[in-house]
Amino acid sequence: MQTNISETYKHTTEGQEAEQILRQCVHCGMCNATCPTYQLLGDELDGPRGRIYLIKQVLEGKQATQKTQTHLDRCLTCRSCETTCPSGVQYGRLLEIGRGIVEQQVARSWSQKLFRSALKNGLSNPRLFQHALRWGRRLKPVLPQQLQEKIPAITALTPSSHPIAAGQYQRRVILLEGCVQGSLAPNINAATKRVLQHLQVESIVATEAGCCGAVRLHLSDVSGAQAAARQNINAWWPIINQATESAQAEIAIVMTASGCGVTVKDYATLLAHDAAYAEKAKRISALTVDLSEYLMNFLPELIALVGGDIPQKLTWHAPCSLQHGQQVRGKLEKILASLGVDVRSCENSHLCCGSAGTYSILQPTLARQLRDNKIAALERTQPDIIISANMACQQHLQVATKIPVLHWIEVLDQAMDKLLTTTKESLAPILVAEQAETVVLPAQSSTSHSENASHAVNDKTKAALGPKTNLAKKKQSKKKSIKKKSPC
Ligand code: SF4
Ligand code: SF4
Repeated sequence: MQTNISETYKHTTEGQEAEQILRQCVHCGMCNATCPTYQLLGDELDGPRGRIYLIKQVLEGKQATQKTQTHLDRCLTCRSCETTCPSGVQYGRLLEIGRGIVEQQVARSWSQKLFRSALKNGLSNPRLFQHALRWGRRLKPVLPQQLQEKIPAITALTPSSHPIAAGQYQRRVILLEGCVQGSLAPNINAATKRVLQHLQVESIVATEAGCCGAVRLHLSDVSGAQAAARQNINAWWPIINQATESAQAEIAIVMTASGCGVTVKDYATLLAHDAAYAEKAKRISALTVDLSEYLMNFLPELIALVGGDIPQKLTWHAPCSLQHGQQVRGKLEKILASLGVDVRSCENSHLCCGSAGTYSILQPTLARQLRDNKIAALERTQPDIIISANMACQQHLQVATKIPVLHWIEVLDQAMDKLLTTTKESLAPILVAEQAETVVLPAQSSTSHSENASHAVNDKTKAALGPKTNLAKKKQSKKKSIKKKSPC
């Protein structure tokens, strides 16, 4: 596409970046076919090609209007158009630049400003959000329907019956707990830590780390998002530096919410022109992986721990931030297939569910339509559980269905816990016998099984559980060998 960028933006880094992106677009319109808002509204300006054209006009000097702002506001930033585009147009980045400029040219009403500011500050501050949620739960019956839907019931943490003692980790990862996930769905972080523990991976949470910046980006506050990125880099940098040479190769920043993942993976772009942070941001982005990408390294261990033990029918709702934003596709399906799970996906699985950060709050009508379409498609697959990888999608979808919507790691955690409990119970006599043996050898008793029973069970599970069908045989032969070894 030919461009004629105005003097105002021609010499700015953002203007130059936008021009490069615009020049890649050949205006073919293929992206419209997979754009959720174009499908719903049928207006060229509510599709990616039309929005690209609007941004081009503004960069070329045409004054943005409220109409321009409305069409850009209606974009979900789902980036489905990027997946479809044959020319590799980075629409998401172009929109970020375009929205920033339009925001400067078109003033919002005071009520909009106030509401957006409350969202920015309330959602991105975990403590503030926790307080607001507590009050929201108390006032829920008198709140408007739209807000009631955003306040879920209190989620009980699934207790781990198999805590693992610290100090025996093979690897370590940094986890970002998220600004709202800890309050709305705390079991996701807890389940992640438990599963990682069983894989002997230590989870480190930097208390100074906060919101990834996604909320501010959704609200066109680029400088606020950059400040959030800097804060997280400052929080993680000492941990990365402290790692020993060998451990450093192992360290990763693992994301349980794909909406945060896509933002942190983008820190390199967000801070590309910040001399003090550009290199650090590049390193942080390179170290960041989605949980499904990370657990791909542990397939044999996962098969040993939960292989064949997830009987429920699962349907996978792939968040846009994972499949389009991060371009991570097929990893979770591969993990679950290795575990013997028949995981399905629904019709039009490439389309957004309407959650999209703050979109479901700011564009409730469109968000509800998209949610209802998605739920209908998901329910047609008749699942026992709908699984996803982004807490915001889960909360948004759960409102419209009775089928539980969980993060997939919670399902894995439950299966792991169930199997470990079964194994622990069936191995109890063996453990008692082994403890009796260790009494004879005082030197070994300092690391006795009673002191670290959960590890003992875990190690035995790994050793004993090849194909699950062999478990009974292995337990039986272990009992026999203990009988033979017994001095009396
Ligand atoms: S963004 Fe890509 S698919 Fe859409 S009009 Fe431009 S070149 Fe075509
Ligand atoms: S990001 Fe999503 S909603 Fe926005 S233009 Fe692209 S496909 Fe359409």
